[in-house]
Amino acid sequence: MTTARPASDSERSSIPVFDQRPAEHPSWIVPRSAYLHIPFCAHKCGYCDFASVAGQDDLADAYLDALRHEIRRSLDDLPSLDTIFVGGGTPTRLSALQLERFCDIVRDTFRLLPGYEWTIEANPGTLDRDKVAILARHGVTRVSLGAQSFDSDALAALERNHAPRDVFRSVELVREAGLKWSLDLIFGAPGSSTRTWNSDLDTVLGLAPYHLSCYGLVYEKGTELWKRLQAGLVEPVDEDLEASMYETTIDRLSAAGLDQYEISNYAKSGFECRHNLVYWRNDAYYGFGLGAARYVAGLRATNIRDLPGYIRRIERGEDVTGPSERLSPLERAGETATLMIRRTSIGIGRADFFIRTGFELDALFGPVLRKHESNGLISDDGHTIHLTRKGIMLADCVAADFTEPIQP
Ligand code: SF4
Repeated sequence: MTTARPASDSERSSIPVFDQRPAEHPSWIVPRSAYLHIPFCAHKCGYCDFASVAGQDDLADAYLDALRHEIRRSLDDLPSLDTIFVGGGTPTRLSALQLERFCDIVRDTFRLLPGYEWTIEANPGTLDRDKVAILARHGVTRVSLGAQSFDSDALAALERNHAPRDVFRSVELVREAGLKWSLDLIFGAPGSSTRTWNSDLDTVLGLAPYHLSCYGLVYEKGTELWKRLQAGLVEPVDEDLEASMYETTIDRLSAAGLDQYEISNYAKSGFECRHNLVYWRNDAYYGFGLGAARYVAGLRATNIRDLPGYIRRIERGEDVTGPSERLSPLERAGETATLMIRRTSIGIGRADFFIRTGFELDALFGPVLRKHESNGLISDDGHTIHLTRKGIMLADCVAADFTEPIQP
């Protein structure tokens, strides 16, 4: 939460005025980050909208071959990377041998810059000592564990297939290996209450985490949980209750030294996820694998989500790109503001925004800034815009207003 106060008139007059556009900042052109996708899961959780597959583990070896080919043929030489994020799916669903192969692919296809961050997502039910040792040996620095809840009823409602004890065991293994770790939690699962959510927070704080991601449950269209909601078989938690769970999360984690640095992410200072900060700055990143998104030099593209189709196309030397869109400079500026405002602690710095986009924030969003400052959703100290506490609660609405910049 920001404590920045609104700008006084005299401060406003000192807002830096830029009369020359800077040279294009290379961070939106040249990626220093890559996302790699491993789609395999033991089963499909009810709320899952990700590019994940269950019951197709027999395709894992062919998938790793295809992934290596996709990376190799997309890049002229070994790119130097500062961050890698391996998501899924469940990367640790791969066998120990396959995980070893996968890590070799990463080491063979990318050059990792000194001090790099390499995160891998793991399902607590699929992590064991051997796999953690493989990750540590290959230089993974951070494990993101999909805990979601410590409440058996909530895990059942979300159709997760791990038990709370798996989370404790996984944290222990990752800690012993000297890796950083983070936990994902979901609040607002059907049947949850203030009591169960506070109990989850008690438990997670008992583990002394340095990074947590806490999301409100979303009933994504087409998922099993969404279908059950449509059929009246699931009762969602009340909106006010969910908002109060979110507020409780912010307050309790902040009191424990885990500051909210993005609307769903909390960390001790220096333990923020650098890879995700790349997304929220709208910097460039590569994306490889099934359904993976990439954003390079203003071109946003997403790979196809059909696993056999992905492997087949790569084997035939065909493109695996699905939907893509080239953003105009103005669209890119709109996206940049929309993403940056999510950074609750950093906000949108006027000078930074100009350097990244070539546009002055006030020229594109003057009326939006004035509207949300007067309704108390943002604060403005003359240099930086932040969401206020009230704005954090309505972050999606505020961010949506930045998608349509004024044509300068
Ligand atoms: S483990 Fe994660 S990716 Fe796999 S089905 Fe469940 S929510 Fe989706």
